[in-house]
Amino acid sequence: VCAFEPNAIVSDACASYETLDHINAGLHPYINAITTNTDFFSFYRLNLYNKKCPFWDDEGGMCGNIACAVNTLENEDDVPLVWRAKELGKLEGPKAQHPDRLEQQEREAQRPLKGQLGADVGESCVLEYDDECDERDYCIPEDERSGSKGDYVSLVDNPERFTGYGGAGAHQVWEAIYRENCFAKPQPEKDNEELSTGMSSSPFGFSNLQQAQAAQDLRNVIKEHGVQQGLEKAIAKGDSSWPFDENLEFEDSCVEKRVFYRVISGMHASISTHLCNEFLNQTTGEWGPNVDCYAQRLHHHPERISNLYFNYALLLRAAGKLRAHMSNYQFCSADPQQDLLTKGLVLSLANAIPAGPEIFDESTMFVGPEAVGLKEDFRNRFRNVSRVMDCVGCDKCRLWGKLQTAGYGTALKILFEFDENDSSNDPPLRRTELVALVNTLDRVSTSLNSIREFRKMLEAREARE
Ligand code: FAD
Repeated sequence: VCAFEPNAIVSDACASYETLDHINAGLHPYINAITTNTDFFSFYRLNLYNKKCPFWDDEGGMCGNIACAVNTLENEDDVPLVWRAKELGKLEGPKAQHPDRLEQQEREAQRPLKGQLGADVGESCVLEYDDECDERDYCIPEDERSGSKGDYVSLVDNPERFTGYGGAGAHQVWEAIYRENCFAKPQPEKDNEELSTGMSSSPFGFSNLQQAQAAQDLRNVIKEHGVQQGLEKAIAKGDSSWPFDENLEFEDSCVEKRVFYRVISGMHASISTHLCNEFLNQTTGEWGPNVDCYAQRLHHHPERISNLYFNYALLLRAAGKLRAHMSNYQFCSADPQQDLLTKGLVLSLANAIPAGPEIFDESTMFVGPEAVGLKEDFRNRFRNVSRVMDCVGCDKCRLWGKLQTAGYGTALKILFEFDENDSSNDPPLRRTELVALVNTLDRVSTSLNSIREFRKMLEAREARE
């Protein structure tokens, strides 16, 4: 295995798709068992309902939510209840309340003191009200956003799949997220308010990165399949009504900006893969893979699939970097048997991940004279992406959007703030961060499997035609 090079625009030459697919075939069963069979990793604490969108008015008639954006109430009345977008987007299953502070203190009093367990007791045993914002975080901790602890939600009971959420409301959110990518180039026309929120007003500011990738992808396709198919692909992509053009050329772009864009685009690609793979056929009422959905959103956009693989490499590297941390981790679920099982699974996974920067080498990032400022900018912009998630107008989508943003934020924190050889200065890792990281890895790992299946389905269909 050789490293997935963050500096390369499309880097399937080295850590190839096949290599990552091969690694994933071995790891997926562990990842999936951890996220579905353990309480620790299948319940996620977040603040889903109590926060307003901080960037625009998502109430009333403004197109920030599903009711006004796509499925107006009149339209929804025309479809059976179970197929209505709002019904599909609802959360299901038991939703445990977070124990209040007194209850937590009582539980804590029953646990052995930190000193009695030794110096290596994990942070998870320091109960969750101890969550504090660390300046090295890439996400806004849920508590800090609202002052409330939120609820535990079962991730198993609320699978990420097609919900019917879309249209102007969803586009507004994606647009705001991609706009966060226009950093590193000072924008003198920004006023102070924009600077303080980090939101840019330039509609094309972010697209440099996409343009470079698209151009490079096009060159690769032309090299591999000839000019005709390359041009066909370019034309096929040109019909988007999306305000940002993924196909334009551009010049300068530093590796950090490219990585930022690829993380977002790869996350978007994974969400698209899940909703296409568990799609509701509104004619038969059955759930299943929708090949057209895959072809349209992913297959005809190879750079999105490339970004998905990129994210897999990035998340794996971060999870692998936690190996030593996890061997000392206390799971503290109040059920010692469960904790043993959880720990066994997590260690099996950690040991199966290729060691060192073999899959993804982050050491080329944030070096040089601008490193400190660039890193801070990168971090602030990623925090803004996590804030934008409060603008998602569908409960289930918001749940998975928040979880995955937190998962990538955790991965970035581990990649850039953790020292594999000396953990003494590592920032603390919250339970919610760990849960988000492993579930995000599961999302992408499952997406890679789905993409392989979709490819086969598409080939079979083309062979029949
Ligand atoms: P969108 O996916 O909305 O994309 C908008 C534009 O972005 C496209 O036209 C294209 O130009 C560009 N684009 C698309 N993909 C990429 C990519 N990978 N990289 C770069 N650019 C890209 N819907 C569900 O059914 N289930 C969910 O769980 C769900 N979760 C969501 C979570 C979040 C945070 C958000 C914002 C939306 C979610 N949605 C979900 C909605 C879903 O992502 C789409 O917005 C919706 O299906 C409409 O799709 P679309 O074809 O209009 O394009």
